[in-house]
Amino acid sequence: MRVELHRGCGSATETINMKTLKRFVLVGAPASGKGTQSSFLSETYGLKPLSTGALLRAEIAAGSQLGMEAKKYMDAAMFVPDEVVNGIVAKWLGENKDCGCLLDGYPRTVAQAETLDANLTQLGMEVDIVIYLNVALELIQARMLKRKACPKCGETTRNGEETCPKCGAAMIVRTDDNPEAFAKRWKDYESLTQPVIEHYRAQGKVVQIDVVEEGEPEEVSARIAAAVRTYCEK
Ligand SMILES: [Zn+2]
Repeated sequence: MRVELHRGCGSATETINMKTLKRFVLVGAPASGKGTQSSFLSETYGLKPLSTGALLRAEIAAGSQLGMEAKKYMDAAMFVPDEVVNGIVAKWLGENKDCGCLLDGYPRTVAQAETLDANLTQLGMEVDIVIYLNVALELIQARMLKRKACPKCGETTRNGEETCPKCGAAMIVRTDDNPEAFAKRWKDYESLTQPVIEHYRAQGKVVQIDVVEEGEPEEVSARIAAAVRTYCEK
């Protein structure tokens, strides 16, 4: 049986056999290459990517109750609490019921995952597949040192460039990549987000892609596509 992946949303370059996958979750550590693979997944399967930041800004611009609630925290430079983020995500998923959706950067914690599952159940939906990019820590650390930012125009690069390819200014290590900031992000990822993987592993939904050697992002993409095919044939 060959099924259409989904209707009326992004155009997919690949249709999936046997099973309709609609709600994808992508999980990976900082510098795991999640951004690149997120674009690959959106294009390949015609998925609409979730951006909690963009949704929050849209709710604020629309002056909705959730938006006003979020604005209080954002104006105070505080994290927007889970109940506000969860509400905004559930609303977006409901509005995009017929689309393939890609959640990246959410759920960040088991508490968010549990609420997401409950909200989806109410909508008659569920998380269909969780793609876990498991990149070896030493690779991640090596990548962090090579990620640079331009203090003048904001351009970012990945290969340790000394000067900005856009404006020629001297590049610096990205502020969120300095060793202290990274250690904090890694600790948050390990203690908060890794349990999300176990949460979905218990549901039999995790497709794990192990990356132990530095290589081309296209090669990782090809392995993801193969693993998704295998998952569909289960
Ligand atoms: Zn520049």
